[in-house]
Amino acid sequence: MDFTKIFVGGDWRTGRGGLVDSINPADGRVVTRYGTAGVDDVKDAVAAGQRAVADPEWRAMLPHQRARILTRIGDAIEADVDTISVLQTADTGKSRAETRALALSAASTFRYFAAALETMDESLTSPRGRYLTLSLHEPIGVIGAITPWNSPIASDAQKIAPALAAGNAVVLKPAEWTSLVSLHLAGIIAAQGLPKGLLSVLPGPGRIIGEAIVRHPGVGKILFTGGTATGRRIAAAAAEKLMPVSLELGGKSPTIVLPDADIDQAIAGILFGIFSSSGQSCIAGSRLFVARSLYDAFVPRLVERTKALRVGPGTAPDTQVAPLVSTLHRDTVADFVERALADGATLLCGGGRPEGALYDNGAYYLPTILAGVTNDAAICREEVFGPVLVVMPFDDEADLIAQANDSVYGLAAGIWTQNFPRAYALARQLEVGTVWINTYKQFSISTPFGGWKDSGLGREKGRDGIRAHMQQKSVYVGLDPSPLPWA
Ligand code: NDP
Repeated sequence: MDFTKIFVGGDWRTGRGGLVDSINPADGRVVTRYGTAGVDDVKDAVAAGQRAVADPEWRAMLPHQRARILTRIGDAIEADVDTISVLQTADTGKSRAETRALALSAASTFRYFAAALETMDESLTSPRGRYLTLSLHEPIGVIGAITPWNSPIASDAQKIAPALAAGNAVVLKPAEWTSLVSLHLAGIIAAQGLPKGLLSVLPGPGRIIGEAIVRHPGVGKILFTGGTATGRRIAAAAAEKLMPVSLELGGKSPTIVLPDADIDQAIAGILFGIFSSSGQSCIAGSRLFVARSLYDAFVPRLVERTKALRVGPGTAPDTQVAPLVSTLHRDTVADFVERALADGATLLCGGGRPEGALYDNGAYYLPTILAGVTNDAAICREEVFGPVLVVMPFDDEADLIAQANDSVYGLAAGIWTQNFPRAYALARQLEVGTVWINTYKQFSISTPFGGWKDSGLGREKGRDGIRAHMQQKSVYVGLDPSPLPWA
């Protein structure tokens, strides 16, 4: 496959940003070189998007016709799942099982928004005079989508599908570390009959290409997933333009084990919640609170199960913990752990790179559990974005809620108990966007997702996900043939 060209306004062209190496995190080898955009490519992409949304071919296309294109895109992604999975594993290091699941999730996302679009109604509001009042929705125009490296194709789809369903054009900037699948996705989408200009995919550095998209006067909304610092910067730039933004940001999610939890079920869920995706997940359950009465029996079992997790390359079928996205990121994770240990944390397992020739050139880090700290320690406050879990006891419900909510983040939480009324009462008190009870890290495209506090602004997914990419318009139709009384 040739990744040297970028996708600007429906054409493949040599980007003005030059070629960059894509590195396989499993062995440090160059996968391929890919093209990146320059600022002039951003200008061309936005101009092409503006032309495409104004073109009657798209503007007047009926919802069911637009939905048909989205369905075709979903089916084409699914038909290509093996190629996408191989490519994404090479680019991100993730296990093949995970990259397959991400590709299938992207396919479902397009089909879901196709179905949602077909069932979307406009409303006739209650009349307050001799006129009809309609509440309608129009596309915003050109939408900028900026995505991170941790779940590339799924995050791309979650932004592109509803934005197109709403009738917009999309300029996508994928993360530098993982641009290959986004370029590949552009090829799939272009082949399904989407009118030219409605999608551009512009790899390149966030501080140049991302900023240029955000600040471009022709871009009417930004959909962003990434770190909180970048999200804040984008929100500030958006404020100057009075432009809406949707921000899906970081997390430091609490997982709670109550005394009556099913221990085996809880341990399996906790391991999946923090160590799948090698912890590179905004919703990773990275702070574990265990009822003090259970703590001494529970934690050794958790540690034993963690040590048994299989660390290896994403291409090995039995791998559970694959390499991190890059050696640079692995070193950042290692640094968090070193600082926590220097601050007095106790290492229960992991805490370093696995040994053996297989791991020498890869960005591997062992699943790690730390204890002996309180919730105010830096390791409990900062997002590590790696396979690092901190375990803490709690005494009673008031203590638990205070600790769980004592975070700048508010993305997700998990509760393990067999007492549903108690779990429900707790769930209502947690300051987070998503709560899982007796499960974790499960997603449904039909269920809104987003964060509280520093974890974000706005919601993605769900039927309202299409409306979020539109602007409302009210229309009054006079029914009285006589002149208005004032005149
Ligand atoms: P970053 O915020 O660094 O990057 C995210 C994206 O923003 C990348 O495409 C990046 O480009 C781009 N970017 C960087 N600087 C700017 C800028 N000044 N203007 C516009 N765009 C910019 O986050 P990471 O890539 O490190 O991703 C990890 C973070 O994402 C974690 O904090 C995680 O919690 C969060 N995340 C949140 C999710 C959620 O749904 N809430 C889901 C997944 C991740 P480039 O990298 O190419 O330079």
